Amino acid sequence: MRTVRPILLAAAAIVLFAAFGGMHIGAQQPRPGGDIRILPLRGNIFMLVGGGANIVASVGRDGVLLIDTGSAEMSDKVLAAVRELSRQVTSSPMPQQSCVGIVHCVWWDGSRFLGTTASPPAPRPIAGIINTSFDPDHMGGNAVIVNAGSSYGARVGQGAWVIAHENAPTHVSGSSPLPAAALPTETYLGTDKKLNFFNGEGVVVWHRPAAHTDGDSVVQFRGSEVLAVGDILNMASYPVIDIDKGGSVQGIVDSLNWILDVAIVEHMMEGGTLVVPGHGRVTDSADVAYYRDMMTIVRDRVQEMIKRGMTLPQIKAAKLTRDYDPRLARNPSWTPDMFIEAVYRSLNSRTAKE
Ligand SMILES: [Zn+2]
Repeated sequence: MRTVRPILLAAAAIVLFAAFGGMHIGAQQPRPGGDIRILPLRGNIFMLVGGGANIVASVGRDGVLLIDTGSAEMSDKVLAAVRELSRQVTSSPMPQQSCVGIVHCVWWDGSRFLGTTASPPAPRPIAGIINTSFDPDHMGGNAVIVNAGSSYGARVGQGAWVIAHENAPTHVSGSSPLPAAALPTETYLGTDKKLNFFNGEGVVVWHRPAAHTDGDSVVQFRGSEVLAVGDILNMASYPVIDIDKGGSVQGIVDSLNWILDVAIVEHMMEGGTLVVPGHGRVTDSADVAYYRDMMTIVRDRVQEMIKRGMTLPQIKAAKLTRDYDPRLARNPSWTPDMFIEAVYRSLNSRTAKE
């Protein structure tokens, strides 16, 4: 894996769009004084940490594609980090590992000679954004980054494009409407949306129905074997099941099983496809299987108590997540009690319909 110099960024002006979106349940607050850290994942794919939700970036000849943009108050820092990353990747003398086919390979091979003949090539523009959900900590940076980006074709001069599932922007609440630039330029319905090849690989946006919300997207980089799965997987806490936005416990379990079907392991359950959660560290199939098991076990425990006729306060008092709490009860805005209540509401509404 290639290493990139740690990027430390001077504090930039902080833009506040806190008026919109309001407080999102379960959202972990970014550290406003903190820096954005960049982790190279594989090939041209990078992970940006510290801007709210995890951000995934594809950086190469076609420009920059971002999966999520973090929170509004961190957007200037995220933008500065993305520009610096783009500058470093573009001026790198090393051919990129995900170079596929003669067109892409020639471009990168050529870049190694540019340093001797001219100043380093300009950073590639931010071409587009895909939002895994429209939670404020996942799309809060959209407006600033769209306005700083540039695309081609019919959208020349209008900034970067934004793709999200049809349902995602319908859940935005708050006193002020979102700035127009933050909204999707394109939404999709159905199971998936295939993008054109971007930076030498296929990119597929998959809809995962009724999981964290009813508008969740998972982004698959088919050449680099990286999946950005948003808040279906949260390594920093129990998954936020946002019932009021159409989420469900069964949708989370189904989606985790789907990730395990799509992911390819390197040895036993270790390595292979890299799975980037909405929050917390990068994972592989073994981590996803552990999380899927936890979700399945907690679902079954709550279901069993509902069958026995126990009430929500009784179920909460039973501390059904006690064995997982040391690892997953660290998010004060999404406590085990809140998680259990969401599981209960999700199962109860299903039982009521049956
Ligand atoms: Zn999130």
